[in-house]
Amino acid sequence: MAKILVLNAGSSSIKFQLFEMDRQEVEASGLVERIGEPRGRVNYRKFQNGQEQYETTIEEAITDHQQGLNAIGQLLLDQENGALKNAGELQAVGHRVVHGAELFSEPVLITDEILAKLREISFLAPLHNPANLKGIEVSKRVFPKAYQIAVFDTAFHQTLPDYAYRFPIPGKFYSEHGLRVYGFHGTSHAFVSRAAADHLRKPLSEFNAITLHLGNGCSAAAIKGGKSVDVSMGLTPLGGLIMGTRSGDIDPSLCLFMADHLGMTTSEIDKTLNKESGLKGLTGDNDLRNILAAYENGVEDARLAIEMYTYRIKKYVGAYIAALGRVDALIFTAGVGENSALIRRLVCQEMEVLGLSLDHEQNDLRSAGIRLINKPSGSVKILVVPTNEELEIATQSMALLNGN
Ligand code: ADP
Repeated sequence: MAKILVLNAGSSSIKFQLFEMDRQEVEASGLVERIGEPRGRVNYRKFQNGQEQYETTIEEAITDHQQGLNAIGQLLLDQENGALKNAGELQAVGHRVVHGAELFSEPVLITDEILAKLREISFLAPLHNPANLKGIEVSKRVFPKAYQIAVFDTAFHQTLPDYAYRFPIPGKFYSEHGLRVYGFHGTSHAFVSRAAADHLRKPLSEFNAITLHLGNGCSAAAIKGGKSVDVSMGLTPLGGLIMGTRSGDIDPSLCLFMADHLGMTTSEIDKTLNKESGLKGLTGDNDLRNILAAYENGVEDARLAIEMYTYRIKKYVGAYIAALGRVDALIFTAGVGENSALIRRLVCQEMEVLGLSLDHEQNDLRSAGIRLINKPSGSVKILVVPTNEELEIATQSMALLNGN
């Protein structure tokens, strides 16, 4: 029985899930939060046959990632409530790494050489990669017998053609500094496009789709023959769709104006566009549930935010239909895409001319699994596909171990 632990290490948190890969079942999951703050928290849940068997939350100061991962290791190996009998049972740790630059288009076994390369490209994702690296370094110490594998958010988009990934700026910025479109959420776009092709019984190599990952971060991807050919996020996860706290696409001269006329520093501009913009900048709140409640009550800020948010998505859908030529499916996923019937309705509104015809009754139903929500008359299938980035990381890690 192969077991794989998936780790997603952020700057002050570590999320984890332990998978038993023969049955593809989650055996444990949890979260270490507020690392480095006076009051930290560790949550651990153990499952058997899909049922929660045990849950505990420990509140204590967690000084660093090492201490956080030690706590996870202890809980997983606990004699009574642990999901691992011994450390040897753990075959591999699959790490989510946000940026793989052009170096990584596949998952990779982490060696000292790979670690050095990862450090070299950290500058491309300064908000994410350093924390992912810390997770890897600590995991090597806590689980020394397990293989350590990196799975990259950018990897799936390494198939973009040059005319989609280059920026129209002098070539030296690409050749000397690697400035280009990379795209993110790759594990999610890969997972949902494969799941949709399976569901529709279409060979992946012939499957064309537009995938909309709408969570706190949001991105759209154009998938041709199962491969990513365009993506809305760019050099960093700031570009493209309007997100919880990020602006998405803006006229780049806004940054120059902020610097030259408003005297803002680059880190102030960075904070404004990454943490204070998007839905939060428009309404003061980045949780779409609250904004939808305000929208239903006729609050003006909420109306504007929802209309801007869905209008931007529609423009990307239209552009990707043009890029793909033939589209088999439009796929909604992640927190908003899976749960908000209203957002899906507004995105698909008046898109019949492009083959999108939503079945409102099906759209309003709630269900846990994958489902079709288009009218039979629409030429493009519309699907809600629950994403599972952790399972995708575990599956890709297992495939690497098996030499596939
Ligand atoms: P993350 O990018 O952090 O993984 P998620 O995929 O969990 O995010 O998505 C978070 C977003 O999903 C939040 O904006 C949240 O408001 C939204 N969301 C979750 N449930 C619902 C719901 N029932 N209706 C509308 N939005 C929802």
